Amino acid sequence: MNETATQPTAPLRARAEIDLGALRANVRTLRALAPGAALMAVVKSDAYGHGAVPCARAAVEAGATWLGTATPEEALDLRARAGLPDSVRIMCWLWTPGGPWREAIEADLDVSVSGMWALEEVVAAARAAGLPARVQLKADTGLGRNGCQPGDDWAELVGGALRVEADGLLRITGLWSHLACADEPGHPSIDAQLALFREMVAYAEERGVRAEVRHIANSPATLTRSDSHFDLVRTGIAVYGISPSPEVGSSADFGLRPVMSLKASVALVKQVPGGHGVSYGHHYVTPGVTTLGLIPVGYADGIPRHASGTGPVLVGGKWRTVAGRVAMDQFVVDLGGDELEAGAEAVLFGAGDHGEPTAEDWAQAAGTIAYEIVTRIGTRVPRVYVNEGVGEIAEIVPEVVGEVIPGYEGDDVAQGCDVKRSGT
Ligand SMILES: *Cc1c(COP(=O)(O)O)cnc(C)c1O
Repeated sequence: MNETATQPTAPLRARAEIDLGALRANVRTLRALAPGAALMAVVKSDAYGHGAVPCARAAVEAGATWLGTATPEEALDLRARAGLPDSVRIMCWLWTPGGPWREAIEADLDVSVSGMWALEEVVAAARAAGLPARVQLKADTGLGRNGCQPGDDWAELVGGALRVEADGLLRITGLWSHLACADEPGHPSIDAQLALFREMVAYAEERGVRAEVRHIANSPATLTRSDSHFDLVRTGIAVYGISPSPEVGSSADFGLRPVMSLKASVALVKQVPGGHGVSYGHHYVTPGVTTLGLIPVGYADGIPRHASGTGPVLVGGKWRTVAGRVAMDQFVVDLGGDELEAGAEAVLFGAGDHGEPTAEDWAQAAGTIAYEIVTRIGTRVPRVYVNEGVGEIAEIVPEVVGEVIPGYEGDDVAQGCDVKRSGT
């Protein structure tokens, strides 16, 4: 109905199709799962490789009122280029000394402060700008990464921030933290971190902090722990329709639909005899007369070299497996004698409901997480946006939560698979 056409008209070597209709539906699904909280779409690292500006816009269209990035540069770029209403809050959390504090204040960003050095720098910048900074104090409740330690350090940071707030140089807009093991439901650290977060928030509020938002939930916590939602959930991977881990469940279990499909044109099909070594190192040798297909993407495009011999690809209606090593620009699949035309479509991963593998399948094949699969797709692969749907937001029906996407069992396309779907 609403297939606004940015489908490529010319064949491409490779492309990452980004389904913004799926992204909007995912945002709606997540909002329904966390009805008492606002939703921050985390769009760091170019929206996990999906393209920050179009994804940020689509997320806001679907009701995200916050956007999150790691670096201030990413957040400044969004404020400058995404054409978003000023009411959309943009927060960034990964600061280093000498960072662009003044630019951030002038762009009305929310900045995270984990320690006294950052508080001092943001105050100096606010004084220079003649504007109050929006500051969110970050607590380390157990991740052991960024954030302020509980106890004396937290008391010093909260006290310092309240004094500067009284002078009008900043507003404490948020109290927040980040979870270490939310992707392992039942891990004891989750309860421990939530308890400590409540304590650290209570301490700050007793001292007089009146934050707009308190937040700790990432995607896995949003999906599995409603007691972690507080005022705001910070969802990244789930917005892109990918499950945080097989332990949490599959994306379909939550009614989420993968947003990115990675496709390539088969560059060459040829017949070879048995005993023919394939790709660097000859780690694959053809077991008999067969046909080989050349897939023109490699590790420079983000195809993990660790998927050598294991990565799944849908070509000619069947799952094939990377034969031998993934090279910088290309890899080979054994087509098992099938005679395909050069130019045939190879789908490395997609939503999974047209017989193709998913990014989660690639993660399993490469011994990593699906976050890394989508985030590493390189800049040499053009992003092609489908279902942009501007102005037709009301027509998009969110996916039904819990709806099961039809599996492969019984499908012809399942034949020839030697890699199983993960998480189902
Ligand atoms: C990346 C990130 C998130 C989002 O995590 P997902 O697991 O992708 O939802 C949330 N908060 C912080 C601080 C992050 O760095």
